[in-house]
Amino acid sequence: MWLGARSLELPNGTSLAVSLVLAAGLFQLVRARGAGVNRFVSEGTLVSSGVTTKTPAEELLGLLGPVDRYHDHEANGDFGMPARVTMEDYLEPHAVAGPQSRLGPLEKVHAFWFAGMSCDGCTVSVTGAQAPSVESLLLGAHPGLPRVILHHPVVNIESGPAYLRAHEDAIKGELDSPYVIILEGSISDETTAHANGGYWSGQGEEPWGDNGELRTVSTDEWIARLAPGAAASIAIGTCATWGGVPAAHGNPTGAMSLMDFLGKDYRSALGVPVVNVPGCAPVGDNFTETVAAILYFLQGFGPLPEFDELGRPAWLFGETVHRHCVRGAYYEEGDFASEFGDRECLVEIGCWGPVVNCNITSRGAINHAGGCMNSGGACIGCTMPGFPDKFTPFYKAPPGSKVSSTASKMVGSMVRPLRMYTNDHLNREVRWDVEGDVPSGWSAEKLEPGKMREAGHKVYDVLRRRGDTGKNEGEEWGKREREDS
Ligand code: SF4
Repeated sequence: MWLGARSLELPNGTSLAVSLVLAAGLFQLVRARGAGVNRFVSEGTLVSSGVTTKTPAEELLGLLGPVDRYHDHEANGDFGMPARVTMEDYLEPHAVAGPQSRLGPLEKVHAFWFAGMSCDGCTVSVTGAQAPSVESLLLGAHPGLPRVILHHPVVNIESGPAYLRAHEDAIKGELDSPYVIILEGSISDETTAHANGGYWSGQGEEPWGDNGELRTVSTDEWIARLAPGAAASIAIGTCATWGGVPAAHGNPTGAMSLMDFLGKDYRSALGVPVVNVPGCAPVGDNFTETVAAILYFLQGFGPLPEFDELGRPAWLFGETVHRHCVRGAYYEEGDFASEFGDRECLVEIGCWGPVVNCNITSRGAINHAGGCMNSGGACIGCTMPGFPDKFTPFYKAPPGSKVSSTASKMVGSMVRPLRMYTNDHLNREVRWDVEGDVPSGWSAEKLEPGKMREAGHKVYDVLRRRGDTGKNEGEEWGKREREDS
């Protein structure tokens, strides 16, 4: 039974029926959304059956060979443990939920975070997430959600071999709970670095060298060894999801995405292809919300998360930036900025928002505040697979935008004055129209400017109230002149 994959021992009391429900649900997940996914892979695998070429992950593992030697943790004692406890044990007394209130089959899930060719911007953005926050996930503060046991090289309190102990247990199939792997930054081509005796990006040392020598373990090697047993493999940020800046033209490190590395046929131990949360840096909430949605589903409390054909959360990346942009109405009225700092639409100085899938304009950068167009920046397409090569040079109007912006200017040149004309009318209370006086000490008197415009507004009011069954026989203006006026 595939759910019995070595790293997915569920807590005591988890019934086989629950496992089957999970399996069936994930089967639908894969079948429903994956483009080109036409079969269900029965266990976590890197093998591309029917495909003749090896994936980069298979090539790397073929070069390095298997491992069966690990740190002697008894001999190491408390080395690398300044708090004398792991972060999991350190947080346990502060965890909001106890085992009895963590509903569902999973009490906890380990999350192994890795950084490849990365600037660590994804880590920074996720630590700022608010809905849900990282802290709340680590403390199990959400009813029904398993507690997340994070293994992050920057935030954990363990270091050295002590930090790598859970990683080793996961590879050996001895971890006490299921785990997910998370990658920020691109995968690099470690086979070329290996040939020269080096590595591009690594994390920790293991006695995996010749005769048990310690050697730096590359990020790619950790990913290749852990991905088959993971409940899910999640790429965060554009470098990990598509290749990003490290994979731009030239690409000296052979940088690639997590999907490129694991191959099209990769499925996690629960049958899930790579999940992608892009952005440079991504919206932190997009990541934590996706993690929470997956965990809720696995616990049986949430609906099936919907992913698009590239593994993006469909509810977060289904719309373009432009459709929710705070400057969208300027575009519609054909009103465009000529330099940064202007308040109008930025398309003529290089905004790609109309063709970019991202929710930054509606969600903001952190805690619903900030974010590109909201704070004056043009969209340069950082969430897209084509970034950066297909968007350069930055801050130059996209060629295709000329068509729609010209059309908007033509329509806008008629619509905008009409709207201003009506807006002017609506900025006066009816009484002021009747009395011919605006009682504001803040500005010059704003009366109906001329008989022609007054007539126009009266026609507008007639049209507005046409068919209004509630109107009485009174003046269309709605109010009578005062007796003493
Ligand atoms: Fe669209 Fe960009 Fe203009 Fe916003 S600034 S309305 S995203 S083109």
